[in-house]
Amino acid sequence: MKKRYPITAVILFALTMQGCATNKLTGASQLSLVSERELQSLAATQYKEFIKTHELVSSTKDSRGLLVQKTGKKIAAAVDKYFTDKKNKSALNGFNWEYNLVKDSAINAWCMPGGKIVVYTGMLPYTINENALAIVIGHEVSHALLQHGNKRMSESIVQELGGIALSSALSKNPTQTRNLFMQAYGVGSEVGFMLPFSRKQELEADRFGLIWAAIAGYDPNEAIHFWERMQKMGGQRTPEFLSTHPSDATRIEKIKTYLPEALTYKK
Ligand SMILES: [Zn+2]
Repeated sequence: MKKRYPITAVILFALTMQGCATNKLTGASQLSLVSERELQSLAATQYKEFIKTHELVSSTKDSRGLLVQKTGKKIAAAVDKYFTDKKNKSALNGFNWEYNLVKDSAINAWCMPGGKIVVYTGMLPYTINENALAIVIGHEVSHALLQHGNKRMSESIVQELGGIALSSALSKNPTQTRNLFMQAYGVGSEVGFMLPFSRKQELEADRFGLIWAAIAGYDPNEAIHFWERMQKMGGQRTPEFLSTHPSDATRIEKIKTYLPEALTYKK
């Protein structure tokens, strides 16, 4: 049996190591046993590996690949503008944006630390248009900026490896540590886009995602239509899928309350 460490150990470890960091986007203090810089460096390696071992849709010869590049760049520019306007450009130190569309039927998209974005072709039947694609990319970029994956990675390292530094984890258990990282960012999951984080984190990512879309000149209202399409698809998915993410109806209601804030950022 593989040894697993109790979740309370995470808290104890955090208290001992004072493993808390202030989030650059919200200013809130959050559990962080792993430095974001270390995660960015691991992300750069893992992203390169992922890109090498998956079939990409060309961003020069295929309009779908081109659209993901274009939309990703616009969202990245919006995030840049937001932090520049707030005189907090250093929040994006270590960001080196990349955008790729991967040939894979999974309904998935993710953004690793440092702005490493992947959209799966399985997502496209639900995004349909550029506005909705911007909503999805904006949502994933928000998870990265809010460091939701960092929290999950911190918890996994404590649970699976007993709370050691990332560098030690990588030298002692390289394969397991890399696997934990990939899980923490929803890579490889069939329905990764739908099953990633807690309800609270999902809604937080929705809220900021709408803001990036608005700054980039997209219509954040499209988020409602996008989630309605996802809701229709919900019935065809497994019950597990339905029970583990915020219900689409609740989500749509919440998004409606976030829209006025996002629209204040629209040019
Ligand atoms: Zn999410």
